Amino acid sequence: MKLTVIGCWGGYPAPGEATSAYLVEKDDFNLLIDVGSGALSTLQQYKHVMDIDAVIVSHYHADHIADIGVLQYAWLTQSYLKDVDEILPIYGHMEDETGFSKLTHDFTEGVPYDPHATLNIGPFSISFLKTKHPVSCYGMRVSDGQKSIVYTADTSYQDSWIEFSKGADLLITDCNFYAEQDGSGAGHMTSEEGGKIAKEAEVKELLLSHLPQYGNREQLIEEASYYYKGKIRLAKTGLVWGE
Ligand SMILES: [Zn+2]
Ligand SMILES: [Zn+2]
Repeated sequence: MKLTVIGCWGGYPAPGEATSAYLVEKDDFNLLIDVGSGALSTLQQYKHVMDIDAVIVSHYHADHIADIGVLQYAWLTQSYLKDVDEILPIYGHMEDETGFSKLTHDFTEGVPYDPHATLNIGPFSISFLKTKHPVSCYGMRVSDGQKSIVYTADTSYQDSWIEFSKGADLLITDCNFYAEQDGSGAGHMTSEEGGKIAKEAEVKELLLSHLPQYGNREQLIEEASYYYKGKIRLAKTGLVWGE
């Protein structure tokens, strides 16, 4: 299983980059997790848009779904150009009906996921954890049967992340805030909280993401490493994990 960071910014993208979007690949199956602002442009540096097999979204905040609309236009245009009529499934939760309804378009179809069950998409099985966020949001544990990636999506700290992330090969945390800040009101975590989860869950690697646009971001690694002694990286456009 291979993961490529397509977008890693919290809230809004840096120039020429994107907010939350991650490409997970295995055996020629391409799953896109979240489709933030700028994601479609960045994604095309790595994959043809028609090579995406499925999309899943954590929640319906703009920095996670802003490019769903243009992804749908891309599929519409490309379907006519290539004379194919495949439908791209876009998985989302049903706790926001307006948000969910926007996943369906001419060549895409919104598919509800049950967050209490394991979802199988291509070679991946995905389990969910409800996050602590102002709107319904689900973090995910994606497994290919050999390795597992945990993605917290948007969340403030909750102990349940430790159990959910237990032994994961890669943990991607919401790191919207520095250690001295308090993310709980906004529904996000600090570097330290991510480090704490990584340590307690004994994950193999920590990737700090959903990054702030200000400050010295290298400091986030230092702060997380106060707790977690394993490998820590800052998410970055094009960063690759796995094979
Ligand atoms: Zn959010
Ligand atoms: Zn967000």
